[in-house]
Amino acid sequence: METLIMKPSDNSIELAAKLLRQGEVVAVPTETVYGLAANALSTDAVNKIYKAKGRPSDNPLIVHIAEASMMEKLCCDIPKLAYVLAEKFWPGSLTMVLNKRKLIPDITSGGLDTVGVRMPDNEHTLDIIKKAGIPLAAPSANLSGMPSPTAAVHVFDDMKGKIPLIIDGGRCRVGVESTVISFIENGVSILRPGAVTAEMLSDFCDVKIDDFVLNQANSGVKPISPGVKYKHYSPNAKVFLVEADDFHFKNYVLKHNGEKVCAIIKQENLDGINFYSYGDDDKQQAAKIFALLRLADKDGMEKIYIHAPKKDGMALAVYNRLIRAAGFDIIKL
Ligand code: AMP
Ligand code: MG
Repeated sequence: METLIMKPSDNSIELAAKLLRQGEVVAVPTETVYGLAANALSTDAVNKIYKAKGRPSDNPLIVHIAEASMMEKLCCDIPKLAYVLAEKFWPGSLTMVLNKRKLIPDITSGGLDTVGVRMPDNEHTLDIIKKAGIPLAAPSANLSGMPSPTAAVHVFDDMKGKIPLIIDGGRCRVGVESTVISFIENGVSILRPGAVTAEMLSDFCDVKIDDFVLNQANSGVKPISPGVKYKHYSPNAKVFLVEADDFHFKNYVLKHNGEKVCAIIKQENLDGINFYSYGDDDKQQAAKIFALLRLADKDGMEKIYIHAPKKDGMALAVYNRLIRAAGFDIIKL
């Protein structure tokens, strides 16, 4: 099939809504990353998402809504705290895992009794959800395992010929996927870190960081968030995450230098090696990281040494993605 890329307009939003109502898959912009959207209430439509991505079927999808009242139609036993957090952080990068109602098919929730819901902060996508009149299941719009797409061209690279339409809303402002939380006694547990940080949530309740945020899922323990089991966010090049100060990072990379070797650095430049800079600021690092991993592949790089971000604020989200991109190959100097 031909894959159209259209800028947001009355026409393209109408077309997206129509295709979604007909059970097709459409890529839509959000503030986090591009989503591969389909009718969350239709098994056939959601099946098409899994097929296009090559995603394992036990990895649940996040359901995107345009009004907080939709949460009650999809979920039950909603804790009071969920309303407080929705009021504060929606539209925005917060996904809440809640008990699901029966109208959500098993395929959408990966067979779980719970479902993740979120209201994205993108006016065009909110418009599409309202016009379509249905909640949209939407994982990141990349091939399973690859870095998430933060520009329409990334979606096109992965999905051309597989979906009819990509709505091109420009670069994603946040650049990493939403914060995923579940509710525990007196507070929340962060299953996946994102732009709504532990620090921000702790103004409202107790905040725990799930063990799998910083650790590898092993076969003995069943993670609450099935997505953490899989290799993720990885370009074709081999990624090495290096935790070191500037001096030791530079020395290490120069020692391992080569024609198809590059570094993702925090400084402005690094003499003597192919480099891309993602800066020193956590928000900037989040906004740039996935695009740089894809760029390194396009440039034919075979090895990428990344100067590890910190683990606080939004840097925790970047760190969480990079340990997985590196297959937990972390070099500590
Ligand atoms: P993606 O669709 O790529 O943004 O990934 C969605 C993430 O949210 C995955 O890591 C899922 O495991 C997680 N997730 C979605 N729904 C649930 C749920 N019901 N319970 C726990 N984690 C979930
Ligand atoms: Mg994803």
